Amino acid sequence: MQGVELGIRTRHPSRFGNRFHPSDNRMYSYVTIEYENPQLTFRAHFPQHYSDDHLPEVVEKRIDALARLAITIRMRTPFASDEVEVMLDEAWGNGAQYPGSNTCAIDVFSADYLNTFAHEFGHVIFRKADSLAWRMIYLFSLGRRRFDIVRDSLYTDGWREDIKGPYRGIPDRNEPVNWDHPYAPGHPWANPNELFASAFAAFILHPQMLADKINAESTLKDTARFGTLMYLYLRDDVFLGWAPLGKDPFVDGRLDRTLAGLGVQEVIQALRSPHPRFLERDNSWREDISKIIDWLNNYNAINVAQLCNRIGWKNFPSFILAF
Ligand SMILES: [Zn+2]
Repeated sequence: MQGVELGIRTRHPSRFGNRFHPSDNRMYSYVTIEYENPQLTFRAHFPQHYSDDHLPEVVEKRIDALARLAITIRMRTPFASDEVEVMLDEAWGNGAQYPGSNTCAIDVFSADYLNTFAHEFGHVIFRKADSLAWRMIYLFSLGRRRFDIVRDSLYTDGWREDIKGPYRGIPDRNEPVNWDHPYAPGHPWANPNELFASAFAAFILHPQMLADKINAESTLKDTARFGTLMYLYLRDDVFLGWAPLGKDPFVDGRLDRTLAGLGVQEVIQALRSPHPRFLERDNSWREDISKIIDWLNNYNAINVAQLCNRIGWKNFPSFILAF
């Protein structure tokens, strides 16, 4: 992330009077810092009670780090929007993204604020990066808990706060993290968008750890295949061939070839025994899964690359779209 030119930084003392916060619909008054870079306009809104000329230094530094990450990503993928807005507040959970917008909300005081932002920014990018191929990768990830390889909690310290002071005051933030809590960071099993956001954060912020997990001897063969597919999708389709590591461990891999190595039959197998956590969410998933299996059975002799060519990279049957 070094060496990224942040661009012109401007303060906007104007208040956004009646602005809704994305996480809880409360009304907030915000002060804004804006970075205008040739690649991206980054706006950080923070609560008015800091006052625009007395922002704590640590918060200012963190806003700079968020802007640097956003601009770095925008320089490397056309899938990122030209404008990103971040709302910063200490009063609620890790992060959120306004569906259908370029606005994220981040708890800038939490230890994993940067990872949370990378995850939420992944949701912004998924609006353009979604495809039938990714949905097939997602369905394959449901078998044998393969999605766990990109689970956010493996890559961050989670909720443990590292800023103390008058801005905080949420006592349970100091307690040990319970990763099974429904709001623990990351839930890549939930849908293709969540898998993408978790994978995106690992790829852009922790590429070495991600590569090591994929290539570890203890990693099951099909989990490694899923991990490789996910890595190549991000590298070749989203980042247009850019690799986050100087020495790319997957330099010989290609997305199209790897997708050709995944049979539709294997996706069906993954759906026949998805992880229980996925099924617990809602009984309607079971019906959706059986519809998808029925549909995939028409194509079970071909591979995923052929399926995407036949149906269209960006086309989904309606019941797959619902995921
Ligand atoms: Zn998410």
